[in-house]
Amino acid sequence: MSIIDDALSANATIATDRDPDREKPPAPRIAIVTCADPRLSDIVRMLGLDDADVDMIRNVGTVIDDDSIRSLVISTQVLGTREIMIINHNGCGLTTFTDDELEDRLRTETGMSPIAPARFYSFTDAEQNTRKQLQKARSHPWISADVPIRGFVYDLASRRLSEVLPLEATHSDPSH
Ligand code: ZN
Repeated sequence: MSIIDDALSANATIATDRDPDREKPPAPRIAIVTCADPRLSDIVRMLGLDDADVDMIRNVGTVIDDDSIRSLVISTQVLGTREIMIINHNGCGLTTFTDDELEDRLRTETGMSPIAPARFYSFTDAEQNTRKQLQKARSHPWISADVPIRGFVYDLASRRLSEVLPLEATHSDPSH
């Protein structure tokens, strides 16, 4: 049996109760963008939040790209979340290769050069990368300026967050 088959049979056993409350529309209060890494799967609990309050947006590498922007616009403009956290972490898989290395490897292994994905968004410095994602989200015109967006690096060992502050210099520079 595959893992999927096991999951299907487990689901048939586990899902015995019907809770009409779960059919009510969601009303999350905060959006969190974080990595798909399974070690981040308990992040809601580590923040002392309730699942129902969190619109969880996950992708490999905590990337603010076209797709996470799409989710954040829906989250803030349709679902009504009022704050955004971007939570990167140390030891991310995206620090273990460069885009060029992975592209070269896949091109060699498959003999193909497909048009997508255009990028893998590999990075080396979690803090610097978080700052970049923060800037991308903050600069989007469809994410209201009154929605706070804050960035963090989650330390897997200590399970503590360190805040990543935006570069103030880029805001106060009079030449811009
Ligand atoms: Zn990661």
